[in-house]
Amino acid sequence: MKKGLLIVLSGPSGAGKGTVYNAVINMLPELKKSISVTTRLPRPDEIDGVHYYFRTVEEYVAMKERGEFLETAEVYKNFYGTPQAPVFEMLEKGEDVFFEIDVEGAKQIKAKYPECVSIFIIPPSFEVLEQRLRGRGTEDENSLLTRIGSARGELAQYKNFDYIVFNDDVHSATQNVVNIIEAERCDILRNERKILNMLVN
Ligand code: 5GP
Repeated sequence: MKKGLLIVLSGPSGAGKGTVYNAVINMLPELKKSISVTTRLPRPDEIDGVHYYFRTVEEYVAMKERGEFLETAEVYKNFYGTPQAPVFEMLEKGEDVFFEIDVEGAKQIKAKYPECVSIFIIPPSFEVLEQRLRGRGTEDENSLLTRIGSARGELAQYKNFDYIVFNDDVHSATQNVVNIIEAERCDILRNERKILNMLVN
């Protein structure tokens, strides 16, 4: 078992996972982020190497063929991937790595690295999910319906996760995620090395 904890936050579009993710990082600033590769274009405030590594489809495919990703997924017609080497380096150093990815990517990580802690964040109901997606005002009716439809399929994958957090309210959802991370840090198996060291010294 690696020294650090790998924590994956995932959930359907509209669950509010981005907001909860940022709020958790504010409460636990020692958590390390992973910078994903994406083939989508940068938004005006986004910087290459800070928010994402923005790459062409050809560059992304070459990285994938070289086996450089821990997981990859296509999310709304763009490709995303988590570069594996930096994540494992941080874990080896004992740093806890926290990232927010789509449901398909989360499933791949669990299969490849079962010690990860996966948290599924969902809205309290489909009505709330629809209100949130509409409230963002970023989607046209067609893509809104696509997102609502794929949210149903994503919700059905809850069994791939270790924990579920209902996001009725951002503050309590954030607190729940923080509590999960803190409890996992106290897990006996994760602390075995320290206990054995105490016993031999
Ligand atoms: P956006 O393009 O709005 O920044 O991200 C869209 C969604 O892509 C995010 O909500 C997140 O769930 C997902 N995403 C971001 N990075 C990755 C990644 O490295 N892997 C996977 N599987 N999904 C990602």
